[in-house]
Amino acid sequence: MRIRRVSDWLPTTNKEVKLRGWEELDVILFSGDAYVDHPSFGPAVIGRILESYGLRVAIVPQPSVNDNLQDFEKLGKPRLFFGVTGGCMDPMVSNYTASKRRRDKDAYTPNGDKGFRPDYATSVYSKILKDKFPDTPVLIGGIEASLRRVTHYDYWSDKLLPTILETSKADMLVYGMGEQPLREIVELLQKGVPFSSLKTIKQTAVFVEEGENVPKNKNWQDIEINSHEACLKDKKTFASNFKVIEQESNKLYARRIFQKVGDKKLMINPPYPTMTEKEIDGSFDLPFTRLPHPKYNKRGPIPAFEMIKFSINIHRGCFGGCSFCTISAHQGKFIASRSKESVLKEVDQVAEMDDFKGYLSDIGGPSANMYKMQGKIQSICDKCVAPSCISPVICSNLDTSHKPLTELYQAVDKHPKIKKSFIGSGIRHDMLVPEFNKNADPKELDAYTEEVMTNHISGRLKVAPEHTSDPVLKLMRKPSFKYFHMFKDRFDRINIKKRLKLQLIPYFISNHPACEKEDMANLAAETKDMGFQLEQVQGFTPTPMTVATVIYYSGYHPYTLKPTKTPKTAKEKEEQHRFFFWYKKENKDWIRNTLNKVGRQDLLKVLLPENNSWKKNKNASEAKNTFDDAVPFNQRKNKNYRASKSSTKEDRNNGNSKTETKETKKYSTPKNKRRRRR
Ligand code: SF4
Repeated sequence: MRIRRVSDWLPTTNKEVKLRGWEELDVILFSGDAYVDHPSFGPAVIGRILESYGLRVAIVPQPSVNDNLQDFEKLGKPRLFFGVTGGCMDPMVSNYTASKRRRDKDAYTPNGDKGFRPDYATSVYSKILKDKFPDTPVLIGGIEASLRRVTHYDYWSDKLLPTILETSKADMLVYGMGEQPLREIVELLQKGVPFSSLKTIKQTAVFVEEGENVPKNKNWQDIEINSHEACLKDKKTFASNFKVIEQESNKLYARRIFQKVGDKKLMINPPYPTMTEKEIDGSFDLPFTRLPHPKYNKRGPIPAFEMIKFSINIHRGCFGGCSFCTISAHQGKFIASRSKESVLKEVDQVAEMDDFKGYLSDIGGPSANMYKMQGKIQSICDKCVAPSCISPVICSNLDTSHKPLTELYQAVDKHPKIKKSFIGSGIRHDMLVPEFNKNADPKELDAYTEEVMTNHISGRLKVAPEHTSDPVLKLMRKPSFKYFHMFKDRFDRINIKKRLKLQLIPYFISNHPACEKEDMANLAAETKDMGFQLEQVQGFTPTPMTVATVIYYSGYHPYTLKPTKTPKTAKEKEEQHRFFFWYKKENKDWIRNTLNKVGRQDLLKVLLPENNSWKKNKNASEAKNTFDDAVPFNQRKNKNYRASKSSTKEDRNNGNSKTETKETKKYSTPKNKRRRRR
């Protein structure tokens, strides 16, 4: 057992600062999360990065804002700047559910206790610091600052808010992953450049005064988007901004964005290029203790840490570009992958942890299977503006080889102290379907699928088709549901071949833009027809800086500016959910009446057969499944659907509605099929 000293962590109190022999601090960080010294926790990464640049850094986790605010003064004033983050999640997501109810637990606080993180924490902390230390620069970063860097819709206050630089009064905002901009900031500050002159750092945003001479960079083009005030006046104007913001966020050579906010101008500099392998290795190889600070020892476990303490993050970024997701807006579309050596070094560290029993809970990333994937011809990617590399089709320039990932899994499993490694991150099942991933080697895809199913899951493989309606999926930037059917066929084949008895668990989203009641009825019927019984529903949450959120607020798709509807009222949302729970007694009459009213007896027959015998009539069910194999459900239903709907309704469906559902019970595994036959 390794004995740790408190000085192995970044200091959090004056006593710990003194233990290091420091008289002064260069940077003091304030965070909405408890301090967990682990590479998956942003505040710790930033602290360790700054420390690696030779700075004296301390961290004040979860400062109290309900007393005399002494937490903000206890360490004094830093030599260079204060760094502020709301934590690893947007504080409003940490504090509230999708239905805006206050959460009972905060996963980033010991014992899951709530009440240690204020709403809009970044702005709250930053304003306190600016009030107490007006001459010391405040730099904000993390997911809250990053995704609120420009005029955005805030679901919780149901308002359009200006850039968080305005509400926080901070001096500078770093968006995305902070390592690269921080290095440049620190280098310049160490050379004596005043903080107020730092206007051309990539991946940062600052305010410039109206009429101020804006520094030029010969490599940057500029673009001005609609002002905050214009967005407040017109929702379509707000929606039109998003296309520019998203495209520039995902470009390798992006333009500098300007936006007028009152009498000031927000200036968002282009992002840094994707981190190289050496750079990202450097970040993960920092001397993390990989443990929560000992001050929490008596306060109970930190749920978010417990979840990831035996997991390894192997890459950053996601090229999926899903409409409801913020990952690419924060981490970027291009993948930064760690070297095998760096990953294995971390496996060594995990294997040395006191309570490690030989089981890694995840070898993953934002999406499990994007490791080492990139454009085949970089010069094509250099000019690309596509928000996704795999929607609507997989780009022919994308190298989707799963070989490096399969080899990495196998290398990890050879480690003498690893009994089993799991893949807990979401797998893009669509990329494993050769009919969708046309340029990939099907043998390689099968090899990966087999490797995962055989060695890296326990009982269940969770994947996220997200919906069954193709128009909704198109708006989500997800492929047609037919590819889920194809993946399921492959899954079932491997399951039988290897005698694995695994379950496939699909996840869906509800209440997404463009999803109407009948889409949900279709979803319920189609998944029932496949043998799934949905048990949990997750509604769409409009978080800042996604296509779906822009549609939710404005009613317009930001790329086409066509009106697009979203279920918004509690009644609409509840009704969408009811279809999922077709098997509950209290929903049956409502479903029957609703589907009869809209002439969807075809769906009614599937969801609530006359004799109500879905479970009892096993032979009939088997016969129906045989028919399904020949004529996919979605095609049959679409035919009926078309016949029963006017073209106007269809047009309205060609947009955006999203509904997410978790399924936890299944009846379609080979084992269960056998049981049903008996
Ligand atoms: S060219 Fe293809 S692989 Fe490269 S960034 Fe664009 S979509 Fe992605």
